[in-house]
Amino acid sequence: MGEADLNKERLELALEAAGLDLWENDLATGNVTRKATKTFLELGFTEEEIVSGVQDIYGLFHPDDVDMVRKAVADHLSGATPQYRCEFRLRAKTGEWVWYANYGRIMDGRSDTPGKRLIGVTFNIDDRKRREDEIAQINRQLVEQNRLLQQFNATLELLAANDSLTGLANRRTLMAMGANEYKRTQRFGHPLSVLVVDIDRFKDVNDVWGHLAGDRVICAVAQACAARKRSGVDIVARFGGEEFVLVLPETDSPSALHMADSLRREVQSMQVVIDGDSTFLSVTVSVGAATLQQGLDPDFEALVNRADKALYRAKGAGRNVVCCAEAVPASAPMYVLPAPEEDGAGG
Ligand code: GH3
Ligand code: MG
Ligand code: MG
Repeated sequence: MGEADLNKERLELALEAAGLDLWENDLATGNVTRKATKTFLELGFTEEEIVSGVQDIYGLFHPDDVDMVRKAVADHLSGATPQYRCEFRLRAKTGEWVWYANYGRIMDGRSDTPGKRLIGVTFNIDDRKRREDEIAQINRQLVEQNRLLQQFNATLELLAANDSLTGLANRRTLMAMGANEYKRTQRFGHPLSVLVVDIDRFKDVNDVWGHLAGDRVICAVAQACAARKRSGVDIVARFGGEEFVLVLPETDSPSALHMADSLRREVQSMQVVIDGDSTFLSVTVSVGAATLQQGLDPDFEALVNRADKALYRAKGAGRNVVCCAEAVPASAPMYVLPAPEEDGAGG
């Protein structure tokens, strides 16, 4: 065996071991001088089919890949790229698409065939592509799951912090935020007032008009309270069933009482639609107000409790009134009832 034959055998062995299928095109004539036989066999075509039918490998390219392959060839032939490389799908005889890669380069013509040749190898990358697809699919699922999780967490946070019927802060949020406000107020020595608002004889609304109508009334009063909220300053919360709390930083007792009475009047004048748009209901609220007193309120809860006691007095006084835990200034609105002697901070 001559050295040339030996080299050919060596080459065939290396190609086989590496799973490479060598092909060769004569660029001068455009003829395929060595066909990628192994690839065609792998795709399920017979030797006869390879010789007769499958002349042009382009006919087997996936329609989405063919332009990219043509461009890769053209770029290399024009000298724009040092090698010809691309990845593409070929149609197997069964109709399935299989991923392959090409790696080639222009080589000088042989002495007996003038002109240049494009020589390359084709190899199967289907396993790798499938793994990549799987990973991409898994990544897409992860991204989607992550998005859902974030959405879910945001909903949970909102649910944990807000009342589901009115959207107002719930009692838990109120107590936490109120405690913060209390600390800040103490540090800077600023006034802090609290209003506890309770719908009067609300049980009757439920009993006469039903629970759904009751819910609408609760929402309407909640809205009236929320409308007074100075954004980023006040806290408006649903304290319980038909009870609301307004925390008013930087607000002294006279201002808090004016606000309480204005809210009371607004609710009194409201007409709540409870059934389609034909049935209206009117309700009133009683309000207890308290303003932070250093000696009396060791914490936020104590301040709320004093406002709650004032509310209790407002109920006792006939409802639809405001009661204050402290002495009421002469300028207070007429529906604001003075505190009894023992309840007042200043006497
Ligand atoms: P008062 O003037 O003394 O405050 O009397 P009231 O009837 O308003 O007070 P009471 O505490 O006796 O009744 C409150 C009612 O509120 C009882 C409860 O069934 C009802 N309630 C609590 N939560 C809700 C709610 O979310 N929706 C509705 N529709 N009713 C509620
Ligand atoms: Mg009530
Ligand atoms: Mg109540």
